[in-house]
Amino acid sequence: MKNKSKLLLIIYLLFSTTSFAQTKDSVTVAAIIKEANENSQLENLANELMNGIGPRLVGTPKMQQAHNWAVSKYNNWGITARNEKWGEWRGWERGISHIDMIHPWIKTLEGTQLAWSPNTGGKTLTAELVILTDAADSIFFQRWLPNVKGKFVMISMNQPTGRPDYNWAEFATKESFEKMKRERTQQTDAWRRRISKTGLSAKNLALALEKAGAVGIVSSGWSAGFGVNKIFGANTKKIPTVDVALEDYGLLYRLVEAGKNPKISVRADSKELGMMPSFNTIAEIKGTEKADEYVMLSAHFDSWDGATGATDNGTGTIVMMEAMRILKKIYPNPKRTIMVGHWGSEEQGLNGSRAFVEDHPEVVKNLQALFNQDNGTGRVVNISGGGFLHSYEYIGRWLSQVPALYKQGLETRFPGSPAGGGSDYAAFLAAGAPGFSLSSLSWLYGSYTWHTNRDTYDKIVFDDVRNNAILTAILVYMACEDPAKTSRERIVLPANPRTGEPTQWPVQRSPNRKGGVD
Ligand SMILES: [Zn+2]
Repeated sequence: MKNKSKLLLIIYLLFSTTSFAQTKDSVTVAAIIKEANENSQLENLANELMNGIGPRLVGTPKMQQAHNWAVSKYNNWGITARNEKWGEWRGWERGISHIDMIHPWIKTLEGTQLAWSPNTGGKTLTAELVILTDAADSIFFQRWLPNVKGKFVMISMNQPTGRPDYNWAEFATKESFEKMKRERTQQTDAWRRRISKTGLSAKNLALALEKAGAVGIVSSGWSAGFGVNKIFGANTKKIPTVDVALEDYGLLYRLVEAGKNPKISVRADSKELGMMPSFNTIAEIKGTEKADEYVMLSAHFDSWDGATGATDNGTGTIVMMEAMRILKKIYPNPKRTIMVGHWGSEEQGLNGSRAFVEDHPEVVKNLQALFNQDNGTGRVVNISGGGFLHSYEYIGRWLSQVPALYKQGLETRFPGSPAGGGSDYAAFLAAGAPGFSLSSLSWLYGSYTWHTNRDTYDKIVFDDVRNNAILTAILVYMACEDPAKTSRERIVLPANPRTGEPTQWPVQRSPNRKGGVD
């Protein structure tokens, strides 16, 4: 063969393989999209998880129920799945809680017991309220403490407005809006000083009130939106802690200030269950060529329990489950092993994922890529290279196969910088493994749904979630098929602008494997 024809042959072979590869990828991508749109299981999954099971607080029977549900879903789709124990947590089960104002008039109040709060011992507790005093210092505070005996203590500031700022911005005069914000800032600072002058941390303040004979603690964690409060865990050990909605908290507060001696009754029937095992749900589709290399899907499975954890992280959860289902159907023999992690106890410090990283060095070492989603129901609009120098090359290559419709508004940042926390991909990043966050559009996540009493099914935007399931499935497919293993070379981190010291790559941390106990 002459040189010229040899060259032509090479060119021919080169083009034919490329076009074959393009055809194969685009056929698979089209099949993924078709399955996602025409046979979507997202609504079903969300209904079963958020409405059928409900909130998924670590250590509760509902969390366990959710783990078992996920395993059986995967098994029904022909995917191997298991619950992997990584630790244990103080077990607690929410019961009925009821909060009523019974004097000076009767009103059932909107509120709930905080997570892990003690119960009311099978009784309804009735008492007057007292507002945490503005003591000059810790000595005066200690002298005031006996006043809480036999009373419910109100420990949160009374918000001056229940209207979110965007509502003021739309309707108030500029002067009025500015004045409200100024006064609210002063009031907020004064309340912070009031707490700090007790000389106690939030936790120790609760315990001091309990020791001084308070009947219970009433707080209000307004989340800066209409009708929305954040619901976290209690600091008390014997007496109940309840969160009351801004509107009702303000009602009680103003009545106390006016000397009307309002009285409330509280009933809370939660149960203590001792230490409970805690798990991650892991499912996988074995690779056919490079079975010991992994592409992971990732989303924490646990939630706070003020609502049903629909967007934190029900939506991330169903995105990963749906992507797994689609991949099993369209791409059942992946080149690399596809694995999904549904982590327990992200909310208390990435415990499930940190445990997995510690327990599975073989996966972490051979991780091609991990995609985590955990900031709400919105379309993915941000992907960062996480500080991996060559992330642009491979993520760029994978994204190029995603049709424009499914990456509308998507911005990428390469090489980006490594996250030290925030969600479970950080547990992998800290171990030097390429974990990436698929970051969503807000839909007012921070104020309306994140850890709130309004994080419910109705807040899910299914078209956006479907978009994310498609995007995730395509990225996983591309990462599996990539002929090259991903590079882990790190960027040189810039100096801290404040101290001038070089910034360090986040360090791998051990999980809390025995949680909820002191
Ligand atoms: Zn979350």
